[in-house]
Amino acid sequence: MTQDELFKKLVAHSKEYGFIFPSSEIYDGLSAVYDYGQMGVELKNNIKKYWWDSMVKLHDNIVGIDAAIFMHPRTWEASGHVSAFNDPLIDNRDSKKRYRADVLLEEWLAKQDEKIEKEVAKARKRFGDSFDETQYRNTSPRVLETAAKRDEIHRRMVQAMNDNDLNELRQLILDCEIVCPISGTRNWTEVRQFNLMFETKIGSVSEGASTIYLRPETAQGIFVNFLNVQKTGRMKIPFGIAQIGKAFRNEIVARQFIFRMREFEQMEMQFFVRPGEEMKWWNKWKETRMSWHRALGFGDDNYRFHDHEKLAHYANAATDIEFNFPFGFKEVEGIHSRTDFDLGNHQKFSGRKIQYFDPETGESYVPYVVETSIGVDRMVLQVLSAAYREEKLDNGEDRVVLAIPAPLAPVKAAILPLVKKDGLPEMGHRIKDMLKYDYNVQYDEKDSIGKRYRRQDAIGTPFCITVDHQSLEDDTVTVRQRDTMEQQRVAISELPALIEQAVGLRRLFDKII
Ligand code: ATP
Repeated sequence: MTQDELFKKLVAHSKEYGFIFPSSEIYDGLSAVYDYGQMGVELKNNIKKYWWDSMVKLHDNIVGIDAAIFMHPRTWEASGHVSAFNDPLIDNRDSKKRYRADVLLEEWLAKQDEKIEKEVAKARKRFGDSFDETQYRNTSPRVLETAAKRDEIHRRMVQAMNDNDLNELRQLILDCEIVCPISGTRNWTEVRQFNLMFETKIGSVSEGASTIYLRPETAQGIFVNFLNVQKTGRMKIPFGIAQIGKAFRNEIVARQFIFRMREFEQMEMQFFVRPGEEMKWWNKWKETRMSWHRALGFGDDNYRFHDHEKLAHYANAATDIEFNFPFGFKEVEGIHSRTDFDLGNHQKFSGRKIQYFDPETGESYVPYVVETSIGVDRMVLQVLSAAYREEKLDNGEDRVVLAIPAPLAPVKAAILPLVKKDGLPEMGHRIKDMLKYDYNVQYDEKDSIGKRYRRQDAIGTPFCITVDHQSLEDDTVTVRQRDTMEQQRVAISELPALIEQAVGLRRLFDKII
């Protein structure tokens, strides 16, 4: 199965099993907007809890807030979003399709890297055991030529992005002979800047309505509340404020399912530090956040850091944690050193003093900020794409299983009476009632046991609990594990402990640095 096929299957599976639906589908959907179904919302809530508890519960010096989506419009002038939150766009005149100029170039660069890797793989095959990869990379004329061309384009692109040179971006697209994937032509327009914020009006028109924005990031709700939280919580630097909430961006290139949405959810934590100590904390949060991802067990090789070449208008250092999605390594989280840009500007724009008196140094200053910012939806996609498996069973049957880490699984256990009579359903309901206060569990008595197992595999339920005639005699049940399909006989009274041991978030927390 190619990665492309896998991705298509994942999208179909997400819909078929109630994880993710296109928004307002009966009206043919709304581009880049999605709804979470009955399974999706559980998975999403579990991811949010994993993140929230890892920040707020595990750290004495991190607290949470929930700020409004609407904010005073001056916020976005101070933050720089009104003037600088832009994407460079280019249209193809034949297909009438619009693209991000930087993304077209990045895809071209990635293709050059692929070309080089293919050459190396071919040579490895040709030379066998005697292959010296380093020497080959340093001497093969074809590899050297591709690498030189790639590096030169990359250098020009970074320069153009930093200088905001839109003509040069267009020239690069022409020089690389990039064609529109739809029309196949190079009939490109000029490159223009496009602001990503959604606008709406507040107040009735007669009162004099004014333009406000749907927040493009949750971070500003934290910055404007810095003093409120610091004072009321008696917080001492270094400390953090965490928040989970919706953000909105009028993304132009909206592809790849829930990877790039127009309405999405962020989990952000702003960590306030002494000026000059931001690099130490930036490095610390890089490691902590990477260990949070790796604790899920999807394989360390599937993650990497990618340092930003073009820094956002507020940052002095920035890296992304990228995950190996079916469509390649892409960002799931950003770790940014935002300096004192935001608090400093809010001080300027609001005319209020936003400073912290440091009792240890006896000085007042505008704190520096290290931010960790992760998309909930990209996490959902990470979990689904890492968990999706198609397996051939010993009996020749196929099964699709979502090997979701048990603490994140939407349903923790399914209770399945072997037959719909002889008191087995009643016993099943009693077990459900015992577990339902602590875990999301399902009761299912319809169809053969095999079919019911398949249904639970497809939504990633870690445990299937089967009630049979023996259960009536000795109060035991069969517990089937999702991944190994092994079955064991367990006393009903032991079920809560067995489930807890697998699904408790503690298992993951222990692995975080
Ligand atoms: P990209 O380069 O992919 O557009 P970004 O660098 O603009 O992302 P940030 O501003 O750093 O993203 O936002 C922090 C996080 O919010 C991202 O790591 C991502 O997980 C999430 N995010 C950003 N934009 C979107 C979107 N359109 N849809 C879903 N999640 C998003």
